[in-house]
Amino acid sequence: AKPRLLDDEEGGVLFYSASPSSSSTYGFASLESQRHRLPVFKYRTQILYLVETHSTTIIVGETGSGKTTQIPQYLKEAGWADGGRIIACTQPRRLAVQSVAARVAEEMGVKLGEEVGYTIRFEDVTNSEFTRIKFLTDGVLLREMMDDPLLSKYSVIMVDEAHERSVSTDILLGLLKKIQRRRPELRLIIASATIEAKSMAEFFHNRKRRAQLEGEDNKLQIEPAILSVEGRGYNVEMFYVEEPVSDYLQATVSTVMSIHHKEPMGDILVFLTGQDDIDTAVQMITEEAQNNTKSSFGMIVLPLYSGLTRSDQDLIFSPSPRGKRKVVISTNIAETSLTLEGIVYVVDSGFSKQRFYNPITDIENLVVAPISKASARQRAGRAGRIRPGKCYRLYTEDYFINKMSSHGIPEMQRSNLVSSVIQLKALGIDNILGFDWPASPSPESMVRGLEVLYSLGVLDDDAKLTSPVGFQVAELPLDPMISKMIIESDKLGCSEEIITIAAVLSVQSIWISVKGQRELDEAKLRFAASEGDHVTFLNVYGGFLKSNKSSKWCHKNFINYHAMKKVMEVRQQLIRVSQRLGLAIKSCQNDIQVLRKAVTAGFFANACRLEPYSHNGTYKTLRGSQEVYIHPSSVLFRVNPKWVIYHSLVSTDRQYMRNVISIEPSCLREAAPHFYNQQPLNPTHQ
Ligand code: ADP
Ligand code: MG
Repeated sequence: AKPRLLDDEEGGVLFYSASPSSSSTYGFASLESQRHRLPVFKYRTQILYLVETHSTTIIVGETGSGKTTQIPQYLKEAGWADGGRIIACTQPRRLAVQSVAARVAEEMGVKLGEEVGYTIRFEDVTNSEFTRIKFLTDGVLLREMMDDPLLSKYSVIMVDEAHERSVSTDILLGLLKKIQRRRPELRLIIASATIEAKSMAEFFHNRKRRAQLEGEDNKLQIEPAILSVEGRGYNVEMFYVEEPVSDYLQATVSTVMSIHHKEPMGDILVFLTGQDDIDTAVQMITEEAQNNTKSSFGMIVLPLYSGLTRSDQDLIFSPSPRGKRKVVISTNIAETSLTLEGIVYVVDSGFSKQRFYNPITDIENLVVAPISKASARQRAGRAGRIRPGKCYRLYTEDYFINKMSSHGIPEMQRSNLVSSVIQLKALGIDNILGFDWPASPSPESMVRGLEVLYSLGVLDDDAKLTSPVGFQVAELPLDPMISKMIIESDKLGCSEEIITIAAVLSVQSIWISVKGQRELDEAKLRFAASEGDHVTFLNVYGGFLKSNKSSKWCHKNFINYHAMKKVMEVRQQLIRVSQRLGLAIKSCQNDIQVLRKAVTAGFFANACRLEPYSHNGTYKTLRGSQEVYIHPSSVLFRVNPKWVIYHSLVSTDRQYMRNVISIEPSCLREAAPHFYNQQPLNPTHQ
């Protein structure tokens, strides 16, 4: 069959429908959200039987079939939460934790935070006495192991979204396998949309345990059970672009507009990569829709990414108002973690933000990178939930078939391991290389991680946690580099300020993103400190306090009020943890020199020097000689001090440093003598 061209006069994006051989049916249940009509309901008895009789049950089921919201309830109904025990369900994403917990509480008719609760970093909505079903991130469950190594309060732990293979999920799986050996009564459920169930089953199949358990409880099967939940769904018709698109944002906007003008009612789900491009697309589409009255019905455009407030989340899940089409522009959180009803059209940019780490240069950053076929299929599947749908891929069919990789690489194999190493060490796992990883990280990354931790003073010569610094760093619920900065600030007498900075760095951007970059830049100038972003944050925080935490003040200054409220909360918690660790909360009265020293003590590994004679602000990292630039969102953009330290890198056309502070090179050697002793710190261009 000849491909059918779909003309599209306004956007210049040409689509043709896929050749029949490559379009396939995506099977999904498309039923009302009533519990008993979800696909997993048919398997209720079977699931409960398998969990009763197997230590590990692997459940594979299409997104939206009810795994996350229903299985914990079934377990509770069957008595797994009796006698004060708790059923846990982990998610890689915080927003998913909040959203499914709220949904389950609603279905059970209970108040969130009582019988059903959730915990994410810096937010604990549980009741230690009454909570029976607890949703939490896998990272939080890992932290709980520091106080309760065998996770003894849980009867069943469901590790959800296992196909995502996040770093925390993988570490958790490795540790749970160990825990099972000591706690045979603990039940594990590994749930996912597309897992390779066989390899997961092999991972959990453990001969040693079998020998040990024989005779103890011969009703309990050691071999993992695998259950596949079938869903009935609708066909999704695929469309590809004719030619590769050069600007996926522009292509997204024109594709959404042409769907809106030509296609019957039904909501649109767009997959972009992160807050920046999502906010831009929301603005562009909203403007187009206002200028363009061709369509007989209206459109509401909503962003979906982590860090949204509760009320924004509710909008996403509430049905579209009559006569309006909902357009949700999302990160890959809507790929499998959250199911939105009412989606009929999917626009897939083909990209997502992914973490990449290079052990040679010791650089980790977030990169906008092509997704895998597995992801592309999941994305398309979102369109077939309530009736036959359509998926518009902003890449060519040839690209999909011949170039796209079939599966992603586990995050463990593309991450900096500093956090993972310290977490394992804190849990008493000394032989990290010998740890039973579901996917082993490279030895180079391991060595790099150990080296950084050694330089931070967290590990000693025997690669054991140092006392007290190592234990303190492990105890703080932050990246080790931020934790080290806080601990050092105690010695330097500036913990008050540094904790504020740490809190700001832990929330999403405190600035409101606006299209007119100029207004935002002007607003920033009001707070900008010549030393850089960290000190600027202190000015913003000070202004916010002076305004009496006014939302009006925030609005006037392009500051995100919700983010500032979050900063206050996080700050309070960090102060509490710090005090528990014996740190004193002291102010240095904004002594910048001291602040710089504290930041350097944590982030010396991220030091960069401006290239001699550079006219375009090229920096090189001291460690790996990588070219980097100051991000336009930084107050130091175009200022280009000679020596800087960055907080993180993002990569688009170039590697950009986000949140930058200027430093003195002498601080570096002072902060990390072994790290920089062979480095040419003497500037050649002063
Ligand atoms: P799975 O985990 O198998 O992907 P879920 O249990 O998340 O499936 O979803 C089951 C159903 O519950 C879906 O129809 C979904 O739309 C609905 N649902 C889940 N969370 C919410 C929510 N926060 N608000 C409204 N509906 C929800
Ligand atoms: Mg789910």
